[in-house]
Amino acid sequence: MEKKPFVTLEKLKEITARYPTPFHLYDEKGIRENAARLKAAFAWNPGFKEYFAVKATPNPFILKIMKEYGFGTDCSSMTELMMSDACGFSGHDIMFSSNETPPEEFAFCAKLGGIINLDDITHIACVEETLGYIPETISCRYNPGGVFRMSNGIMDNPGDAKYGMTLPQITEAFKILKEKGAKHFGIHAFLASNTVTNEYYPMLAKVLFETAVRLQKETGVHVAFINLSGGIGIPYRPDQEPNDIMAIGEGVRQVYEEVLVPAGMGDVAIYTELGRFMLGPYGCLVTKAIHEKHTHKEYIGVDACAANLMRPAIYGAYHHITVMGKEDWPCDHKYDVVGSLCENNDKFAIDRMLPRIDMGDLLVIHDAGAHGFSMGYNYNGKLRSAEILLHENGDAEMIRRAETPKDYFATFDFCGVMKKYL
Ligand SMILES: *Cc1c(COP(=O)(O)O)cnc(C)c1O
Repeated sequence: MEKKPFVTLEKLKEITARYPTPFHLYDEKGIRENAARLKAAFAWNPGFKEYFAVKATPNPFILKIMKEYGFGTDCSSMTELMMSDACGFSGHDIMFSSNETPPEEFAFCAKLGGIINLDDITHIACVEETLGYIPETISCRYNPGGVFRMSNGIMDNPGDAKYGMTLPQITEAFKILKEKGAKHFGIHAFLASNTVTNEYYPMLAKVLFETAVRLQKETGVHVAFINLSGGIGIPYRPDQEPNDIMAIGEGVRQVYEEVLVPAGMGDVAIYTELGRFMLGPYGCLVTKAIHEKHTHKEYIGVDACAANLMRPAIYGAYHHITVMGKEDWPCDHKYDVVGSLCENNDKFAIDRMLPRIDMGDLLVIHDAGAHGFSMGYNYNGKLRSAEILLHENGDAEMIRRAETPKDYFATFDFCGVMKKYL
């Protein structure tokens, strides 16, 4: 499918006149339409709830949009819990799917009334000791081990993943938790990441639903919800077919009818913790070509770098690039599009065929809406960019300002050494 930016050059020029590049830009219209589609896809399940994975795009303005759709938040750290709290999420609107969790984070989650999703059996003792009780509603993360294969050859390797409990452990955990007063149980698993196939969720649902039936039989607990977690992917490459969320919802419904309903578990709520699918395509990194270099290769230097979008550098991930205003030009130039870090993996594209790029051209780096800004870092003293929300009416609103040197030096405020710049 041809990849088109959600913003026009004209609009971008208007925005860049107010906010300097680089910045992350989000498409409110796209976010909302997609959120509504997800809701429709699971409308067959009365208890359905999406817990937006905060780590994908931790911004209060984004969280508030999610809230309007009745979604909750999925957190895994203290600050994500704090942001959820500040945005008005509380009680069972918060899912805490953390791992290697410090006790004070369990305590804070419990204070907010959030649902604790235990990653390990040893956390039962930790939670009981920290809170002085076991919450009535509690979830456990399952890891079946082995290799998870889909028919298109995509696979992931749960057996090699640090998350979750084995089947004997989760069985034991349910028994212990029940004995200690837990009444409503959840099961969670995340077995494959960024799956671009309608098959993943239904396959995962089958594994989890069968496990739930088995656990209910063996331990006698009430399974209240099954959490399919994240993992629904997006087509980063133009040749990839996007997921059809309606087909995915229908696929999960069929497995539900097949496995849960006959077991008398037709009241189980389905939860999701999607991040990438909710925001990925509806955000982009906007950057400007500021330098060209002709050596052993043709380089285009831009004013963004891996500190703004790390995925190409760490995973070799493909992110599509549009040279704004040149959409119809022939892609007859082969470039490495690079940032300014003193790291040779700071490349947004390698040997990419693009239209001729002139200095000052605006480049849109696609699909940066999830795990983009949030993975940012300060290497080489690079400052985090602003985030801007493009509203449905065409207004652009800054939803996070860019860092300044003062922010970067703020952690030296205790000793006075950087006083000159603070
Ligand atoms: C990262 C994560 C998610 C979201 O994953 P996506 O690939 O963005 O959908 C959901 N749940 C947990 C526990 C995670 O760690």
